[in-house]
Amino acid sequence: MLFQISEPGMTPEPHQRKLAAGIDLGTTNSLIATIRSSSPEVLADDKGVELLPSVVHYATDGTATVGTNAFYKQVQDPANTIASVKRFMGRGRDEIGSATQLRYELDEGPGQVRIKTVAGLRSPVQVSADILAVLKARAQDSLGGELEGVVITVPAYFDDAQRQATKDAGRLAGLNVLRLLNEPTAAAVAYGLDQGSQGIYAVYDLGGGTFDISILRLTKGVFEVMATGGDSALGGDDFDELVVQWMQQEGHLKPLTDSAARQLRMLARQAKELLTEHEQVPIQKRLEDGQAIDLILSRSYFDAMVLPLMKRTIQACKKALRDAEIKVEDCAGVVLVGGSTRMPTVRSSVAQLFGKEPLCQLNPDTVVALGAAIQANALVGNKQADEDWLLLDVIPLSLGIETYGGIVEKVVPRNSTLPIARAQEFTTFKDGQTAMAIHAVQGERELAGDCRSLARFELRGIPPMAAGAAKIRVTFQVDADGLLNVQAQELTSGIKAQIDVKPSYGLSDDEISTMLSAGYASASQDMKARALAEQQVEAERLLEAIRSAMRADADLLSQTDQDAINQALEQLNVAREHCPDHLQIKQQVDHVAQLTENFAALRMDRAVKQALAGKRIDEIAPKVVSDNL
Ligand code: ADP
Ligand code: MG
Repeated sequence: MLFQISEPGMTPEPHQRKLAAGIDLGTTNSLIATIRSSSPEVLADDKGVELLPSVVHYATDGTATVGTNAFYKQVQDPANTIASVKRFMGRGRDEIGSATQLRYELDEGPGQVRIKTVAGLRSPVQVSADILAVLKARAQDSLGGELEGVVITVPAYFDDAQRQATKDAGRLAGLNVLRLLNEPTAAAVAYGLDQGSQGIYAVYDLGGGTFDISILRLTKGVFEVMATGGDSALGGDDFDELVVQWMQQEGHLKPLTDSAARQLRMLARQAKELLTEHEQVPIQKRLEDGQAIDLILSRSYFDAMVLPLMKRTIQACKKALRDAEIKVEDCAGVVLVGGSTRMPTVRSSVAQLFGKEPLCQLNPDTVVALGAAIQANALVGNKQADEDWLLLDVIPLSLGIETYGGIVEKVVPRNSTLPIARAQEFTTFKDGQTAMAIHAVQGERELAGDCRSLARFELRGIPPMAAGAAKIRVTFQVDADGLLNVQAQELTSGIKAQIDVKPSYGLSDDEISTMLSAGYASASQDMKARALAEQQVEAERLLEAIRSAMRADADLLSQTDQDAINQALEQLNVAREHCPDHLQIKQQVDHVAQLTENFAALRMDRAVKQALAGKRIDEIAPKVVSDNL
């Protein structure tokens, strides 16, 4: 019997590989791709169709229909058919201008936008989750297993709220979102540009409803977004609209009913798409309202008609180049993304501006999903020997500080896009504490000892105050180059200390992957260790507080009560030091808290507002930073 032995450097067999996928959650169309037999490919539905229209139709019984069937429902049941929901992601009602023409009704309530449907109110996150769920099922059906994780792409200009909403949609669809990736970065990865050493690239993305131009700088496998620009209200739909207007004029059409107008728009879109391959197309159709069309549209006429739109995209490119403070000659390449870049007029205009042929060998509809798939594959650990890279346009590992008891408090979560600044307040542990050690760490583990130490520094000269009274604001700031600056400031006195750190310095991509997988692997063990450490800190804080209260006000208690409390404190101290089970320590903590309730009341009566009462307040108060200098 023969055994097949895989050669060194060969990728593991499919069944050993973890299943990962990249998802392009587009305004118009969405896609899912994966790495199969070492190259990325888009997964099709059971009819062989790759593009899933980002349209969801809701029926009275609550069923959601997604994709092509929903796309056609736009004509029959526009009020319950939601398209282009990406425009609403992470947006409040007040952020959506009344100018937006909508076929469906929005809930007037505050906060997140919600859409009224026969199936009830639906948030953009829910609608997106319905789209993602279909893609997830498609992947699991064709790959024959659960997806380990996915990478979802977002426009480079998406802000925190929009990114968070996208992640939430992923989670709601039951996906493990490994990372969000900027769409232009994904396209650049699909073209393998990250394999080069360095260079500046432009990514020109003209989709259905939006135009995005991004200027990326690659340095040693790291993509930095130098500038983004574009027009969120300019896309293939506007080209369709011009064709519609032309048809109305040329065909001498009388005002149209709503449904005939929608028919006309679909007709216009088909004609436009056909013109990409043909020099001219006949447009013949009897509309629902009885009017007939019989026209011929030539490519040259179309190109002239859409010239104003093309000029707008070229102006936006020039502006982005200015914002990035570079000249067109500095661009090593231009990548075309989005279905609308198939139009010959786009290709020639872009080539003319940049003075070189754009990269368009890959299908512009799928290039973003392919790049996301490559990234997802690397993140789950299916890396190939020569794929020794990881993108760093986001923070690869969380940044945090060590708090009392060795527990890590995350300040900047993993996957935050650069640049970023985040602040958190901490406080002192002991009465009269005048200095604080700040220890910045990097990693996903719960205990500082398991994370990578980045820097230590001290904040001195804190005015002596009761434990928990000082307010120390620690700010983490990471610039686009990945340079971290940590600053600590005591807010009442204003004293400051700070340090610069280079977080990714010296950390190879392999180390990053190892730290990530270690974080996943030991998550439950870490949670136990964290719970234990937290309970130990809680116990210590309580011991400190009550001992200090006893020193001040023991005379409020009878000797018997004093003895009982002292004995309970002793037991708690032993449990804190030796007990491996956080629940048992918690029992002791609760016991002491209960036993000293009356004492606390007596002290309150004495109008001493420190210590014991503070214990309960502590639970909502800022965390304590390690004071062992
Ligand atoms: P989005 O990123 O907004 O989801 P896509 O990248 O999928 O959008 O692009 C959709 C747009 O591409 C539509 O306006 C569609 O008409 C246009 N499109 C698709 N194929 C062609 C083609 N062959 N020629 C011209 N336009 C096309
Ligand atoms: Mg797109």
